[in-house]
Amino acid sequence: MFDLAANLERPVNLSIGQPHFDVPDQIKRAAIDAIEQGRNSYTVTQGIAELNDQVRRRIDDEFTDWAAADYGTLIISGVSGGLLLAILTCAGPGDEVILPDPFFVMYKHLVTLAGATPVFVDTYPDFQFTAERIEPHLGERTKMVLFNSPSNPTGAVASDDVCSDVARLCAERGVLLLSDEIYDEFCYERGANGRCPSPAAHGTDQLLMRGFSKTYGMTGWRLGYAAGPRTIIEQMAKLQQYTFVCAPSMVQAAGATALDTDMSEYVEQYRRKRDRVVERLSGAFELTRPGGTFYAFAKVPESLGLTGTQFVEKAIERNLLIVPGAVFSNRDTHIRISYACADDMLEEGLDILLSLAGGG
Ligand code: PLP
Repeated sequence: MFDLAANLERPVNLSIGQPHFDVPDQIKRAAIDAIEQGRNSYTVTQGIAELNDQVRRRIDDEFTDWAAADYGTLIISGVSGGLLLAILTCAGPGDEVILPDPFFVMYKHLVTLAGATPVFVDTYPDFQFTAERIEPHLGERTKMVLFNSPSNPTGAVASDDVCSDVARLCAERGVLLLSDEIYDEFCYERGANGRCPSPAAHGTDQLLMRGFSKTYGMTGWRLGYAAGPRTIIEQMAKLQQYTFVCAPSMVQAAGATALDTDMSEYVEQYRRKRDRVVERLSGAFELTRPGGTFYAFAKVPESLGLTGTQFVEKAIERNLLIVPGAVFSNRDTHIRISYACADDMLEEGLDILLSLAGGG
C-alpha cells in the first residue's frame, strides 16, 4: 500500500495524523528566543521548573481533587516518550495490559516491548471503552488499563459517566489507569464542567498524559507531560535520565507560551469539518459520530464485499489516501479518515469515498 501511495503525484490525502495548521507565531518566537538566549543545554530530566509549575497549575485548576493530592509531574519527549517510560516502568513479563480495540498503533508494540501481554477489549461498533466491557478482562495479572479519549483512530469521546466508572473500577481492582489525553483540546462533546471528560476528574491515583503535538501543531517538536503517583513518576524520570535524558530544551521553554495560547479558533474549524464528514458520509457508511480528534472511523459497506485494506487499495487507485482500520485493530472492516486538511481537499476526498461506497 505504501508502494502504491508513493506513486501518487498529488494525492487527496485524508491519512494524516497531525493538524494541518502551522505552529502559532508566538510559540515559534518563544523557541527562537530560547535558542538565541543560549538555552541549548540539557535540562534537568524532569523538565524545567517553569513548565512543570504551569502544568501543575493547570491540573490543579481542572481537577480539584488533584490540587489537594501529592502527585508528581514529568516533562516528556512527546506522549510517545511518556508512554514508553510508563509502560516499561509499570509492566513486565507475566503482566497484562488492557487496551481498547481499535487502539493507537503504538500501544500494542510498547506493551510487547516491555515483555507484557496486550489484552484487547472489543469496542465495536460504538467504540466506547466502558467499565462493563473492561471488567471481564481484569485478572490477577492485570497491571494497567490504557485509556484514550478522545480516541485515535475512532474519534470516540468517553462521557463523564464512562470516565467515572472506569476510574472506580481500576481503583477498586488496584489496576493503574493510564489516560492518554493527547486530543483533549479537540473535544466537541464536553462534559458537565465544560471540559473534555477525563478519568482524572474521578480519582487521583492515575497516570495522566497530555501533549503539545496535536493542540499546537508541534508534532516535530517532541513535547508532552505526565502527571501521577509520585513513586511512578520518579521511576519514569529515572528511566528518562537513562534514555531520552530530557525533552528538547528550547521546546520546553516555548511550552509555557504554548499553554497560554488560545487554540479555540482552530478547534472550531475541526468541529465544522467533523460535521461535514458526518453529514456527507452517514448515508453511505456506517459511521459513529466522532466526538473529538480529527478522525472518523467508518465501516466499509458490507455490500462491497471488501476488507478495509482492499477498500483502501481501491481508494489509492482513485488518488485518495486513507488508512485501513486493520492498522489499529484486530479487525479489517473499517477505514480511518483524517479531516486534518483544507476544506477543498476534504470535499474532494469525500466525493471519492461516496463514489467508492456506491461501487464507483
Ligand atoms: N497518543 C495518541 C492517541 C496519538 O494519536 C499520538 C500521535 O498520533 C500520540 C499519543 C503520540 O503523540 P506525541 O507526538 O506527543 O508523541
